Amino acid sequence: MQTIAFIGLGNMGGPMAANLLKHGYKLNVFDLSADALAKLAAAGARSASSAADAVRGADAVISMLPAGRHVEGLYLGESGLFAQLPAGTLVVDCSTIDAATARKVAAAADAAGLKMLDAPVSGGTAGAAAGTLTFIVGGAAAELERARPLLQAMGKNIFHAGAAGAGQTAKICNNMLLGILMAGTAEALALGVKNGLDPKVLSDIISQSSGRNWATELYNPWPGVMENAPASRGYSGGFMTELMLKDLGLAEETALHSHAANPLGSLARNLYEEHAQAGFGKLDFSSILKHFHPLD
Ligand code: NAD
Repeated sequence: MQTIAFIGLGNMGGPMAANLLKHGYKLNVFDLSADALAKLAAAGARSASSAADAVRGADAVISMLPAGRHVEGLYLGESGLFAQLPAGTLVVDCSTIDAATARKVAAAADAAGLKMLDAPVSGGTAGAAAGTLTFIVGGAAAELERARPLLQAMGKNIFHAGAAGAGQTAKICNNMLLGILMAGTAEALALGVKNGLDPKVLSDIISQSSGRNWATELYNPWPGVMENAPASRGYSGGFMTELMLKDLGLAEETALHSHAANPLGSLARNLYEEHAQAGFGKLDFSSILKHFHPLD
């Protein structure tokens, strides 16, 4: 597998595509943004004039787009890529989208004789740049083995969650829990500070006690407690509140469709919605702390 078509070169897709180039793959790239295209062209990719142009001669297609409607628009319909790709082509969608759309697109790929995987990622923009992403894959095991070298060029951990759509379901479960844990951590720290505790001392105590979690260990929401966390740089350069809100919305839809209760996920979605409405949608999601404790 040598030539890869990469569609969607944003905050995540751009550095992921750059890592494929570093590993010696030939890349045909396409994005609606001329700036994003120019960056990859400067790094050695062939800048295509359309998605259809990008897949010409490609052995595999990777997409990294904002949401389900973009993925459907790219692949389905008369002018979609599935109508143009040679049978047997491997298609890997790394976007975070709802599992129902992922299954619908995978079924259309199957009908067209194509091999599709959903492979959403965890690890953020830093992981994308460093090539240390976690891929959470849904689809046939044989196709995952075909895709493995490609994924290894962009990531460190690769999990097979199950059949088509399972990668998206697992990703959404993880991110719902992350949203809940971050809000809970912010609430606990604000309660302690309101009652006279130092946020760093309380964080150290929680980190060695039963309330410890990813936020207290690696991504503390209180400014200044953890030097490398977004909270210590004005909540910039992390995972935007808007994207967390999107994922909590996907969790809610998944719960509705499967008749599952998700009271905490739903509460967290409402908290992040209010937070976004208050003007913090572009800040890192750990800024939910401001909901519990006003910062200067
Ligand atoms: P982004 O908005 O930076 O990039 C999306 C890119 O897709 C843009 O450059 C846009 O121009 C392009 N695009 C949209 N429609 C297109 C089309 N039809 N054809 C070609 N290009 C098109 O978003 P991002 O942060 O890179 O996120 C991409 C996906 O990864 C999302 O589903 C997001 O939820 C997921 N994700 C993001 C992060 C993160 O930390 N940013 C972490 C994990 C997963």
